[in-house]
Amino acid sequence: MENAKAIPTIDYPRTFEEMDDWFRTEAGCREYIRRLRWPDGFGCRHCGVIGEPWVMKRGVFRCRACDGESSLTAGTMFQDTRKPLRTWFLAMWFITSQKNGVSAIGLQRVLGLGSYETAWTWMHKLRRAMVRPGRDLLTGEVEIDETYVGGPEEGKRGREIERKSIVVVAAEKNGRAIGRIRLKRVIDVSAESLLAFIRETVEPGSTTHTDGWRGYSGLPAAGYKHYVTNISGGKEQAHEVMPRVHKVAALLKRWLLGTLQGGVQQQHLDYYLDEFTFRFNRRRSKARGLLFHRLAQQAVSVDPAPYSSIVYGKPVLRG
Ligand SMILES: [Zn+2]
Repeated sequence: MENAKAIPTIDYPRTFEEMDDWFRTEAGCREYIRRLRWPDGFGCRHCGVIGEPWVMKRGVFRCRACDGESSLTAGTMFQDTRKPLRTWFLAMWFITSQKNGVSAIGLQRVLGLGSYETAWTWMHKLRRAMVRPGRDLLTGEVEIDETYVGGPEEGKRGREIERKSIVVVAAEKNGRAIGRIRLKRVIDVSAESLLAFIRETVEPGSTTHTDGWRGYSGLPAAGYKHYVTNISGGKEQAHEVMPRVHKVAALLKRWLLGTLQGGVQQQHLDYYLDEFTFRFNRRRSKARGLLFHRLAQQAVSVDPAPYSSIVYGKPVLRG
């Protein structure tokens, strides 16, 4: 699975009982965050010295060398939260232990959160932590194609007109199966948009497999081997010649409809794509606790996302 080679011996809760026990107190949660942030020992952000700090009031460390203070959660997703860290940890466990994810309403119910908006904001904050900064590029043979997501739901008679979004799908070939995937919403299917996506997701020198769309014709010049299948027989044939990207596109659409009740606003689609990718690339991982650990690890390394930066549209309530 993704990241597997980067894991030496790490300590993460294996079961709900273990998680519940480890993170029963705020001190337990803080200790875990501390290990995630400073796996090689606390490093002072003022003077750079690595060493055991004085532990001041909750979540504040004082450097023994320079007396500078550092906050445990400053600069992480948990900065300025007014909820107990335990509630966040429960949320991360709940989200990663459900194979297909949860809706904001589901999260609100299980955590007993007072408002839907809080649950919705948490879901979006956690989605932001699902993409590892500087993640590996896809390699080997990679199928690439575009798909269209969203738009008016059937039976709604176009009451609410939404434009469809274009999503590019890249899927590694792993024998007959699918390896890792990457997804991205693009504004159009121009060569500029498609090549930008491929450059940031596929290792140069890899073999790309696309249809005959001219937007892909610059791939050899960009340093990729390019295998083209001209599809003249319409959709059916596309399923046969590039089965992996089409399988991924079908699963994505089903997931969006099922988990999110189809209520996806275009400006939030990017984060749903990140969540789908996070889950898909770890779909065979039996250790759900490891997913929890990965999410927690990434949550301490992403910038805090204040509510105002998330909401530029109201949450969509449907179904
Ligand atoms: Zn210091």
